[in-house]
Amino acid sequence: AKASGGNEVRFFEGEMQARVSARASMESRLRIAIENGDLVLHYQPQCRFADGKLVGAEALVRWQDGAHMIRPDQFIGLAEETGLIVPLGRWVIDSAVEQLARWQSSCVDTLRVSINLSPRQFLRHSVEMDVLAAIARHGVLASRVELEVTESVLFNPEGAALRMLNNLREAGCRVALDDFGTGYSSLSYLQSLDLDCLKIDKSFVANLAGPAGSHGARGSTAIVSAMIVLGRRLGYEVVAEGVETVEQFNWLKATGCELCQGYFFSRPLPAAEFESGFLTLRAGS
Ligand code: C2E
Ligand code: CA
Ligand code: CA
Ligand code: CA
Repeated sequence: AKASGGNEVRFFEGEMQARVSARASMESRLRIAIENGDLVLHYQPQCRFADGKLVGAEALVRWQDGAHMIRPDQFIGLAEETGLIVPLGRWVIDSAVEQLARWQSSCVDTLRVSINLSPRQFLRHSVEMDVLAAIARHGVLASRVELEVTESVLFNPEGAALRMLNNLREAGCRVALDDFGTGYSSLSYLQSLDLDCLKIDKSFVANLAGPAGSHGARGSTAIVSAMIVLGRRLGYEVVAEGVETVEQFNWLKATGCELCQGYFFSRPLPAAEFESGFLTLRAGS
């Protein structure tokens, strides 16, 4: 037993080492990718339930690693842990605002772009300046730029993130609360953060399609309709994310949700496809 215990320890050490070095090599590959500009943004439309008109686009980053495309779930966590999220985030902000400027001048001046910000971007670094600098550099209206944060941003020390978000709002930017309902804090944070938009997490929307009469389906219809009422009473625009089916679409529309995002309308698309397939056809005012 002792001998095999020793072998197990060695096995785990070996395993750990392999994991540590895989992580280190991923980190240096990501660092190089950021420097080389091997990142791309895809854009997913946000449309009004009422008339299907396009209102905005969420920018979602992908890592173009040679022939294959790496999804953000595979590298955002690592970027956050290593601090690479700061240069990565800066690139995302500048590219998304630059794209918005192009679309505004060529197609739709009412279009908005939504940019995801990690809590880590608010630490020891002024993400506020990055956003304002991009807006000034590309000459867009601040009101067309929306920043998506999760409630975890509020655990930021000394409320620095809250202050930056309030400053950005005062400058005219919109702030959206992402993944609403999935965090661990109570609703009291809704009193300390001024928002423009609330995004209902896709896990709730997915359950709307549960077997009729099942607990999952009943639970999520109750939860989602309460979220919509709460958001609207607070004066926020409410977005449902992860809308995939016509049943989900119809139910959310009837329940008073304003904006729809999900595969029902479109997957996130490369800029050129978003432009040809969406922007020129469905733009609203
Ligand atoms: P998120 O902000 O909650 O983004 C929504 C995710 O849901 C996206 O995954 C999108 O492709 C996916 N999605 C959209 N519609 C549907 C649908 O109808 N059904 C299903 N099942 N999924 C749908 P994606 O692009 O893989 O991004 C994953 C996460 O990575 C994002 O979740 C966000 O937290 C993070 N992320 C993406 N881009 C950035 C970025 O530029 N900066 C930061 N900090 N995080 C980012
Ligand atoms: Ca988001
Ligand atoms: Ca989300
Ligand atoms: Ca998410």
